[in-house]
Amino acid sequence: MPDLKTLEAWFVTGSQHLYGDATLRAVLAHSNEIAAALSRSHQIPVQVVAKPVLTTPDAIRDLCSEASASRNCIGVIAWMHTFSPAKMWLGGLRTLTKPMVHLHTQYNADLPWDTIDMDFMNLNQSAHGDREFGFMVTRLGINRKVVVGHWADPEVHRQLGAWSRAAAGWRESQQLKVARFGDNMREVAVTEGDKVEAQMRFGYSVSGFGVSELACAVQQVSDAETDRLVEEYEECYRVDESLRRGGPRHNALRDSARIELGLRGFLEAGGFRAFTDTFQDLPGLNQLPGISVQRLMADGYGFGAEGDWKTAALVRTMKVMSSGMTGGTSFMEDYTYQFNHSHRVLGAHMLEICPTIAAERPTAEIHPLSIGGRSDPVRLVFTAPSGPAIVASIVQIGDRFRMILNEIDVVQPDRPLPKLPVARAVWVPRPNLQIAAAAWIYAGGAHHTGFSQSLTTEHMEDFAGIAGMEFLCIDSDTKLRDFRNELRWNEAAYS
Ligand code: MN
Repeated sequence: MPDLKTLEAWFVTGSQHLYGDATLRAVLAHSNEIAAALSRSHQIPVQVVAKPVLTTPDAIRDLCSEASASRNCIGVIAWMHTFSPAKMWLGGLRTLTKPMVHLHTQYNADLPWDTIDMDFMNLNQSAHGDREFGFMVTRLGINRKVVVGHWADPEVHRQLGAWSRAAAGWRESQQLKVARFGDNMREVAVTEGDKVEAQMRFGYSVSGFGVSELACAVQQVSDAETDRLVEEYEECYRVDESLRRGGPRHNALRDSARIELGLRGFLEAGGFRAFTDTFQDLPGLNQLPGISVQRLMADGYGFGAEGDWKTAALVRTMKVMSSGMTGGTSFMEDYTYQFNHSHRVLGAHMLEICPTIAAERPTAEIHPLSIGGRSDPVRLVFTAPSGPAIVASIVQIGDRFRMILNEIDVVQPDRPLPKLPVARAVWVPRPNLQIAAAAWIYAGGAHHTGFSQSLTTEHMEDFAGIAGMEFLCIDSDTKLRDFRNELRWNEAAYS
């Protein structure tokens, strides 16, 4: 996973030359102090880098071009300490291709009622300076987040931290390469889509490969490498007796290890950080990849089953956004329901749930898949811990992309699941299963999602905002009639 501290948010302060050098020196000192404080905040995962105070159209244009070209700059935090006439910003803002957050703050938290004079009034003008700037950004139709509050307030840090993570995810999306082994599961609709449109909108590229190429990479894995990985499996997991050395099915564990090594090598060689496969296209592989996909996800790879490249890219983006946070992120599917009494969703997949959401040490087990016609696959089995989480889905509705998010509460299964041979999470959707599932279905949300116990709605909403993507949230406040109206209004808004 990338270390987000290697990335930079540029702190950009606007002013003008009307107030004299002493004022501008104070503006610069305050700007540096605020940037340093934000950079130190444990809630903001990136470095906040102070840039010179901007007072002319040329300096603004140069800074915006530099930010757009910088590899490590995830975006710009803009603040107008004094008034900074916004026509100066027009040209620069038009060239800025990085995300922006507008921090509407003031150096002084307190208004000095007894001593306030015209010097103070000339220096502390963000209350109106930021409004002038805001007008220009709105007039230009530029997406940005607006954060209001004193710069030392932890709530301000929290909001800037969420934006920083979304902007880091956006940076990843621009450079992400997704590999698809085989095509889509036949006849499935929601996992299809326009990959050119996705690349135009999100930046990531999606490339297809014959499964035979993957099978070839798997065949080239050496016995020594396989031995080492099998040992690692036995150290990391409670490996079922039958799969251990000397056990009757040990060869299946070795086959799994070979698949992991082949798959990992293929992805590394091609610079891919997300991938898909499909159980309908496995020539040359003797099992559907299970434990290998689970472990690759745990190492930060995005995954989508049945050719679902949109979810693979989403899961990778969410992994980067949540880097360093507690709680895991996984590919997920709404699998089956408890409809009486407790109204719960059992989330799982055929195999591919990420062990970063395991509450306990996973077991490595082998069971029939009853689908796909290959040998039994090895998989990690575990249950997700209780607590708040989100599930998010990106679908393509006509020529636009829509993100649908549901806030959920993961709970423990009502009873043990002794015969369920897959990893699982059990949850109660907010506000409840009836409203959440109806809203999700009205919105056209997919059955595959990115599930996270670290990210929150704010992270995903900020990401959708940066992407200029429609965002629909189903949470404890959702009322079905309002939600359906929102869908109708969005049809008009996005047409
Ligand atoms: Mn599926």
